[in-house]
Amino acid sequence: MKFGGTSVADADRLKRAARRIVEKRAAGHHVVAVLSARGKTTDDLIAMAAEVSAAPHPREMDMLLSTGERISCALCAMAINDLGHDVISLTGSQAGIVTDTSHTKAKILDVRAQRIIRALDEGKIVLVAGFQGVSTADDVTTLGRGGSDTTAVALAAALGARECEIYTDVAGVYSADPRIVPRARKLAVVSFEEMLEMSASGAGVLQLRSVEYARTHGVRIHCRSSFDGRPGTVVLAETETIERPLVTAVTHSTGEARVTLLGVPDRPGIAGRIFTILAEANVNVDMIIQNEPLADERRADMSFTVPGEDLRDARRALELVVGELGIERVATDDAMGKVSIVGAGMRSHPGVAAKVFSVLGGVGINIEMISTSPIKISCVIKRDRVIEAVQALHDAFGLADAAEVEDPFGSVPGALGP
Ligand code: ADP
Ligand code: ASP
Ligand code: MG
Repeated sequence: MKFGGTSVADADRLKRAARRIVEKRAAGHHVVAVLSARGKTTDDLIAMAAEVSAAPHPREMDMLLSTGERISCALCAMAINDLGHDVISLTGSQAGIVTDTSHTKAKILDVRAQRIIRALDEGKIVLVAGFQGVSTADDVTTLGRGGSDTTAVALAAALGARECEIYTDVAGVYSADPRIVPRARKLAVVSFEEMLEMSASGAGVLQLRSVEYARTHGVRIHCRSSFDGRPGTVVLAETETIERPLVTAVTHSTGEARVTLLGVPDRPGIAGRIFTILAEANVNVDMIIQNEPLADERRADMSFTVPGEDLRDARRALELVVGELGIERVATDDAMGKVSIVGAGMRSHPGVAAKVFSVLGGVGINIEMISTSPIKISCVIKRDRVIEAVQALHDAFGLADAAEVEDPFGSVPGALGP
């Protein structure tokens, strides 16, 4: 079981999570629960770091950020003790989550679950601090924003769990973020392929790495509401899903930055050098566009997008090679966003891209960059037009729920509305 930040945000919600965990245990299951930091704790910790340092040291950043999840676990263990159950809370390191050394976005290399297994054998409920591990160099690491999902899936895989339940503040995975499209449809099932594209293009309800990990290790994810008992969305292999609609979901992100390299010499090897230096700086490059130089020129312009939080690292890395490669100028724009449509049925149906571009054109939204995969079409647009774009596409592809919509945020008082 994994509980997200909103689901443990205050004392009442934390106690509700504790009760749900205890109910599972009382029903005869062994339970490992992964908890996220409460409410906006991680954001607050990042802001605190920014107050004392313009570029916080990544190792110390991880020492700081990992505390949020530890608070949740310790408090939840206290609540579970009071419900009369045996429980132990563990940090990621104590739980045996071993990662590589890339601070603030570490990858899990191994899960040494002996201590958890011992505690389960003793009949204990085990709580594990999400989003963190210990590196091969014995330092505390964190797994990137939303990383508690990956902690949960990795533990489920290591323990051979029947299912990994992700309890969150919405009732499942929807055809669009229900905060933006209130009539979005809850998907009963979604394939790994589609969920990977959705997470990669901004549906933060499941961290991308958690979906990759689940697919590789055959973990069944059930994403559901922490506020009520309704079933949510199950992520399955494509062969197990029956429904294959043309378009499954519209996703978006508002945190994109565009980097444009002007006057890049047109010679073999240049792109290799540029993107190697970015990869070495751990910058995730998304869309890449290069103009053909005009016949009589020997220079081209190249643009690519990176997550907003990687822009500083990207600029720093590029400074090292701009002079050496003879690039004329680097320009950046950090007010970009992206809207995507995802659907396995798209593979065999032409005309989807044309419809996406026409819909966006019809509401006067300029498309700045485009990228596609067999089951996804993404358009980079100005950040301030993203919400409108999502709503227009969701409408145009008829994704809204025809039936009476249950409240995506749950009926429990205090559940967050849109
Ligand atoms: P948690 O703290 O439980 O990990 P997150 O905030 O990380 O929760 O993820 C849940 C949020 O993801 C929802 O509140 C919703 O606004 C957002 N979201 C974005 N896209 C989708 C989608 N397609 N379906 C469901 N939720 C989505
Ligand atoms: N607390 C971390 C974050 O806010 C990890 C998580 O919630 O999954 O990104
Ligand atoms: Mg999350």
